[in-house]
Amino acid sequence: MTQGRENLQQTPAGPPLPAADQARLRESMGRLYEIYRGISEKADQVMATRCPYKNAQSRCTANFGCRNQFMTKVHGDLPVCAGSDKLDYRSAWDV
Ligand code: SF4
Repeated sequence: MTQGRENLQQTPAGPPLPAADQARLRESMGRLYEIYRGISEKADQVMATRCPYKNAQSRCTANFGCRNQFMTKVHGDLPVCAGSDKLDYRSAWDV
């Protein structure tokens, strides 16, 4: 029998961790879960009004027509999205 190993627990991807590290790991995972949960909730809120095809530069990435697309004079440029994030964007789609 190995002495001092009774407080060690096997981890799926590595050597056993001491019980104190297991508790810290659980605490860290809990904090990480809360961070991702907040991001997910915010994404769900934004998705209800902001079109998922609008990129960070307010350009349209959709490969279908939409009344809110404003074509620029630059060849190959993505259209500018002229839609409001306050209105339901889905009625403007040509699908
Ligand atoms: S132009 Fe239409 S499809 Fe494109 S991002 Fe704006 S609302 Fe969405």
